[in-house]
Amino acid sequence: MKHMTRKATRHVNQNEGLIFEKSGSGKAAWKLAPLDVPEVDTQALLGAAERSDLGNMPEVSEIEIIRHFTRLSTWNYAIDLGMYPLGSCTMKYNPRVNELVSRLDGIANAHPYQPEKISQGALRIIKTLSDCLLEITGMDAITLQPAAGAHGELTGLLLIRAYHDSKGAPRKKVLIPDSAHGTNPATAAMVGYAVENLKSNANGMVDVAALEAQMNEDVAALMLTNPNTLGVFEQEIHKIADILHAKGGLLYMDGANMNALVGKVRPGDFGVDVMHLNLHKTFSTPHGGGGPGSGPVAIRKQLEPFLPRPMLISKSDGTLAFDYDRPRSIGRVRSFYGNFGMFVRALAYILANGPDGLRQTTEDAVLNANYIRKGLEGTYDLPYSSASMHEVVFSDKVQAKKGVRTMDIAKRLIDYGFHPYTTAFPLIVPGALMIEPTESEPKEELDLFLEAMRSIAQEIEEDAELVRTAPHSTRVSRLDETAAARKPVLRWKPNSENHKSEV
Ligand SMILES: *Cc1c(COP(=O)(O)O)cnc(C)c1O
Repeated sequence: MKHMTRKATRHVNQNEGLIFEKSGSGKAAWKLAPLDVPEVDTQALLGAAERSDLGNMPEVSEIEIIRHFTRLSTWNYAIDLGMYPLGSCTMKYNPRVNELVSRLDGIANAHPYQPEKISQGALRIIKTLSDCLLEITGMDAITLQPAAGAHGELTGLLLIRAYHDSKGAPRKKVLIPDSAHGTNPATAAMVGYAVENLKSNANGMVDVAALEAQMNEDVAALMLTNPNTLGVFEQEIHKIADILHAKGGLLYMDGANMNALVGKVRPGDFGVDVMHLNLHKTFSTPHGGGGPGSGPVAIRKQLEPFLPRPMLISKSDGTLAFDYDRPRSIGRVRSFYGNFGMFVRALAYILANGPDGLRQTTEDAVLNANYIRKGLEGTYDLPYSSASMHEVVFSDKVQAKKGVRTMDIAKRLIDYGFHPYTTAFPLIVPGALMIEPTESEPKEELDLFLEAMRSIAQEIEEDAELVRTAPHSTRVSRLDETAAARKPVLRWKPNSENHKSEV
């Protein structure tokens, strides 16, 4: 187990990724049948647009190109390979039934420009999903347009701004707890609000006294994640809503963590005015790699006039249609009607589970997180002792004494065959290890994960350097993550030396 460094097998060879370097003149992965039509003068047809010099396009055989792409796929990690405990991301299993349904001809080939008359099935999917989400959240109306959680936040705050503007009393500030997801303050700033930080109390919840002191007629809204990013349920949410409402403010709930609540409690019942959902988290549509996602926004009645155009309505003859005549709408926030393929998958998930299944899912997600918490309690520091919901946040306080930080432990997990948990977030926990197993994981996988985490803690005692330099089993070890994000090397360039280390 110690180093777990696989022998220098082919797939860890640095150059294996560079199909260009396998290129050999005359090699080909294709063969065309002899022409059975007259030859065309391509020069006459294309003129200057014709390219005769294909530059440095690689010439490779069929088996080489197949191996190239198959090999690339094995350098990746996926929920279909093992546990993906990335906290706050709800990397749950994407059920195959969702894919099956979304690929049905009539659904996959539906075009957004086809007339409503022949789109009734697609519109019915949108309507049924909207109704299900309203039942789950206890809210009054919903838009499915936003294409991600952060996009939902933007839409929600635009609605809040329109609401205050309509009262002739625009407000300046948005309150955000110090435990919030980074997208919350970014969104508030984008909409033109000043962000005011709200302190958490010793239990990791909103400090209600601090909120009371900070709340005034300048505050448009509080953006609150519930359960919050510590995985803790905001027990005083009713009181928080009352404090805001008493001074004319609105309560925005970041619903990205609804996996802990679905089927148990409804935000509409605890005073939330606007919220977004992440279909790509809670409702099992695939995510990662930049999308597509879906972040519907559900609201209370008083915000309905401002919802994005168009809104789906039921006509008196029972058919569905889009209503564009919404003079107070904030306008469109996305082309067409949103990411329709995600709606289909989310609805398939909801209907396949049914109310009892969804409730069971929530209970299992919370149970799994608490199983992890119990299993690692003595090994890693637990900064907040409040009850955990769907995720648990430890800190690296104990391991830091040996010079090993959360990032090192996360990297070492890769050697054990797991995707890392979330590091360094939430910001109020220095050296955070944020772990969200989701309901998808069987007990056997959770036990393997616990064993890996305990084993790493043991390694830190005996050989901290081993963990500090992990991962040892991957093709490349530690990358400059900032440079990888800011200056990605996305294509191969001939005679460039840097690609070898950065590809
Ligand atoms: C994931 C997440 C978001 C952002 O959602 P995206 O779809 O990634 O834009 C916002 N808030 C919380 C709490 C989240 O976990």
